[in-house]
Parts: sequence; C-alpha cells; structure tokens
Amino acid sequence: MEYISTRNSQKTFSFKDVFLKGLAPDGGLFVPNTIPAYDSQGLEKLRSLSYEELATKIIFKFCSEEFNQEEIKDIIKNSYKNFRADEVVKIKKIGNKNLLELFHGPTLAFKDIAMQVIGRMYEKILKKNNLKINIVVATSGDTGAAAISAIKDRKNMKIFVLHPDNKISGIQRKFMTTVDSSNVFNIALESNFDECQKYIKSMFADKEFSGTINMSGVNSINWSRIVIQIIYYFFSYFKISKKDEKINYAVPTGNFGDVYAGYIAKKMGLPIDKLIIATNSNDILKRTVNTGVYKPLKVEHTVSPSMDIQVASNFERLIFDVCSCNSDKILKLMDDLNKKGEFLLEKEELKKIKKDFYSESLSDEETKLIIKKIYKNKKILVDPHTAVAIGVVNKLPLEKNTVILATAHPAKFPDIVMQQAGIKPELPESLKDIFNKKEKYKKLPNDLKKIQEYILERV
Ligand SMILES: *Cc1c(COP(=O)(O)O)cnc(C)c1O
Repeated sequence: MEYISTRNSQKTFSFKDVFLKGLAPDGGLFVPNTIPAYDSQGLEKLRSLSYEELATKIIFKFCSEEFNQEEIKDIIKNSYKNFRADEVVKIKKIGNKNLLELFHGPTLAFKDIAMQVIGRMYEKILKKNNLKINIVVATSGDTGAAAISAIKDRKNMKIFVLHPDNKISGIQRKFMTTVDSSNVFNIALESNFDECQKYIKSMFADKEFSGTINMSGVNSINWSRIVIQIIYYFFSYFKISKKDEKINYAVPTGNFGDVYAGYIAKKMGLPIDKLIIATNSNDILKRTVNTGVYKPLKVEHTVSPSMDIQVASNFERLIFDVCSCNSDKILKLMDDLNKKGEFLLEKEELKKIKKDFYSESLSDEETKLIIKKIYKNKKILVDPHTAVAIGVVNKLPLEKNTVILATAHPAKFPDIVMQQAGIKPELPESLKDIFNKKEKYKKLPNDLKKIQEYILERV
C-alpha cells in the first residue's frame, strides 16, 4: 500500500515513512492512495473472528510492506494481553442504544487501544532499521497518558509530553506524571491544548531541530492510530447487526481522529449509515457541517477536556476526500485558514459530508444532566465525554440501531461523576495505587525556545 500527503498527491510514501514521520514533510496528513474494501460476502467472513484475529487481518492490509502477518499477530496479542476485557472492548445495552466501552486499557481511555499497538510497532521498526527516535506529543489529557504507558521503558526511544497546566483532571495528570521511567518527560505549559499542539507543529517544521532529535509524533494525526481504531467499528458491528443492516455510530469528537476511523470503516464497506460527530461547546465541527464554514474560535474549557479543541487536525483528511483528492484545493483552503482565519467548503463538498455525518453539540449543563439521568435511570456511570455523545444522540431523530462510543472510564473524571450521580466511580483494583505515587513534571513558560532547549538537553 502506498501513501500520499493531503497537500501533495503526486509523491508517494511507504508505511514506514508514514509511521515514523507522523506529519508529511509538506505539512499535510498522510492518507492511503487507495482504501481496501470488502463486499457483503467478504464482510460475513470476518463476522465470527475474535477481536485479535480481526485486528491482525485488517491492520495487516495497511502495513504489509513493513511487517509480516505473524509479526502483526504477535504485536496485537501482546498489546491487549493486559486489558481488563477479554475481547479488548465491551458492549452494553443502554435503553435501545448500544454503548461500546473502549476504556479497558491501562490508562482508562480509548486511546490505549491504538497506542499500545503503536508502542510495539515502534520497537520493531526501530530495531529492524537500527534507529533511535524522540517522540514529542501534545495532550489534552488522554493521549499523553496512553502514549507514556505504551512507550515507557522501550528501547531506542524517549517521549516528551506537553500538557496545558491546570487544564486536565488530576487523575489524567497522575497517569502521566507518576510513571517512573528514564525515557519519559512531562512538561506542563501555561497555555491551552491548541497552543501545545501548535508548538509540536512548529518543532516539526523546524527542520534543524526535528532532524537533530530525530523527532517523531504519536498525535491523533498519525495514520497508524486511525487504522488501529477502525477495528472496533468492525468488531462491534458484527456483534450487534445482522448481515447488511445499516447502523449509526455516535462519537465524542475532538481532533476528528476516532470518528474519521469510522469513516474509513465505512469506505471499507462496513454498512454504516450516519457517523455522528458529538462535540462539547467547542463546536467547530458542528458549525462546519451545518454551514460549510470552518472557523476556529477561542478554545473553551469544558467538563470534557479531551475534546476542548478548536483545530480538528484530522478533518483535513476528510476534506481531501470530499474534494476528490485534489491536493491543490487543500493547499488553497489551508492558505485561507492561515490568512483569513477560516475556509469555506463548496456546496457539493458539504453535500458529501452531510451524506455521511450528523453533528450536534452539548453544553456543560446538558452534559452534567446526562451523567445524572443515566445513573438514576439505568444505574450506569458514564464519563463526561461519553455523556456528550449520549446527549447528542438524544437530540437527533435517529431511526437505525445506534452505537455510542464510550471513550473514557468514569473513574478518570471522579469529581464531576460524583457530583452528578452521587456515587464515587471506583478505579479498577490494579490502578488504585496511583494516588500514592510521586508525581514528576516540569513547568515551562509559553516559549518555544525554552521548550526546545529543555528537550535538547535531554535527548
Ligand atoms: C481523545 C479523546 C476524545 C476525542 O477523540 P478524537 O480522536 O480526538 O476525536 C474523546 N474522548 C476521550 C475520552 C478522549 O480521550
């Protein structure tokens, strides 16, 4: 399989390039040149596979130049052996909807599912190619923890994680800062997530810096994360749907990575009707889907911090697709975004987006009410991100069977869950000692040079 950049469809890249670079050299995002697809019969053959078998089959399609099938199988098996669910994820009924629990990994958020695999892919690729890298990543809370858990103690790599100081929950922070490993560095910045993300982009763009440290990224723009997230759409589909039945997926969305994986699953032939982009009051995607104007506003701090994002990086991949893979068009739109602070989609492009997507947003007040009501009526505790998706689904006139992605464990946001449901969500037994561990992180000012110096001194 060959890959291209959304900003230059002429030059092709290998999976290894895509994996190690994260972002394309021209600033665009990598996408496959063609997406493999299953017909109805092909899908039925996948129906009875276990999660790990399904993951091995599908992931292999995207990286067979780099790994053989045995290697992928091995990576998958080791990645998920410590998950608290036998089949990686769990599906629960919630009224007449389905809740797809993706939070049974080591850091209690869906990001573990991709990150555990990526950590092991890195180790294999680095060893094969005799390389050393430094991962630099920004986090709105959960990415950093998942990445640290996947990369700690691995050979030939160090990880530097930037988080916005005081804008993530205490437990989110502890999952990152209590990891005692010589290759892990946490940095707290006096800024918000979008700014942290901007620093990562600037560091990548600074060729001298990124070359010197052999910089790599695992943000949700990394294509391999998308591929690995496709699996739970397939797996849950087979668990709840009959042959050819069309169903909806509702996804709590920030960077547009998770819901974009659903879009790829649909392109691969999975009978998905609507993909529902559920956002908090940082509703850039809802505004874009409704009006065609993509315009980042100021980031608002909400009760679902992992979605406090106004620049939904992966959205560029969708735009590229609906613009018929015209990279010149993407360059123009990104230029508009830089110069005017917004870009406008054409009618035809917007029509294509509306065919596959709905989008709605939920306020903090509505989100809190959902947490309270779901516990009162169903005795299920949900975290605020999952609550956003549930609340959005309640607002929409959906006829088909619907799966709601539950992206974080309620115990990762204990204060708000306790406040609304009146009971304290318990951490899984194996994680309870996190409160007794010592935290270690460095506070740095909002200054690119200072951040770069800190990293250079430690690589
Ligand atoms: C990261 C995250 C999201 C948003 O996922 P994207 O892929 O960025 O859209 C939603 N919920 C939780 C709990 C997360 O950690």
